[in-house]
Amino acid sequence: MSKLIQEIQKGRILVSDGAWGTFLQKKGLKPGECPEEWNITHPDDVYDIARSYIEAGADTIETNSFGGSRYKLAGYGLEDKVFELNKAAAQLSRKAAGPDHFVLGSIGPTGKLLMMEEVTEAELYDAFKEQAMALEAGGADAIVIETMTDLEEARIAVKAAKENTACDVICTMTFDKILSGEFRTMMGISPTEMTQSLAEAGASIIGANCGNGISDMIGIVKEIRTVNTNIPVLVHANAGMPHYCDGETTFPETPADMAGHVKEIIEAGANIIGGCCGTTPDHICEVHRVVKSL
Ligand SMILES: [Zn+2]
Repeated sequence: MSKLIQEIQKGRILVSDGAWGTFLQKKGLKPGECPEEWNITHPDDVYDIARSYIEAGADTIETNSFGGSRYKLAGYGLEDKVFELNKAAAQLSRKAAGPDHFVLGSIGPTGKLLMMEEVTEAELYDAFKEQAMALEAGGADAIVIETMTDLEEARIAVKAAKENTACDVICTMTFDKILSGEFRTMMGISPTEMTQSLAEAGASIIGANCGNGISDMIGIVKEIRTVNTNIPVLVHANAGMPHYCDGETTFPETPADMAGHVKEIIEAGANIIGGCCGTTPDHICEVHRVVKSL
């Protein structure tokens, strides 16, 4: 059993990191620039983001590789740099994390739709395999496949990471609250369906990221726990729902707002708690403070 799973089985609640995309923009990433290319061109800035989250109290940090699949990198003409950019991403987070914190190698959706036959299952598998192996080569402890909405793509990614690396495999999907008050991904998948399917595909940790603030994430965690009481659950919540105004996106929840729901989401069954869009090291610092106090 890996150290990450052992810590969770001991009953330890782990704090994860917050947003990367907006942090990179704050450091000067321009619209149309490839975030993953910064692992080579601006390694000090990427390292500084990782380090900021460690200093805020995160036990696990991600890597700057969300869009690091060959299909996403092709949008920048960088599809032949998958290994180099993902390995560098993991090395930078590893350096910031040291031996005592966990590095979760981020893998996002490819943007190619299976159901529209834009890509075959074998092609998706190869793309995820290639990215996961590069993240492992750079020192990732786990692979976190995230922001998934298509269950088939998520399953293929889980299998590719599981079958080709020794890393723990985490998979989180993005749910929206629909009118009935239930949660579904954009492709219509419920937390119940996700839980059954991803556990079967070999994920060792599942959960939800993005799409919701932490208060709605509580409902998702409760639903996961009605189906599976054992599997570790990770939540990366947004800082509330985005507001669009004058071409700018802002997120309303303060670090204290987020921290105010931490106790409840742990009681619902979450094991790893961190942030997604709109969250900052200040949010993670507050979450860490609450987790420590419990
Ligand atoms: Zn997000």
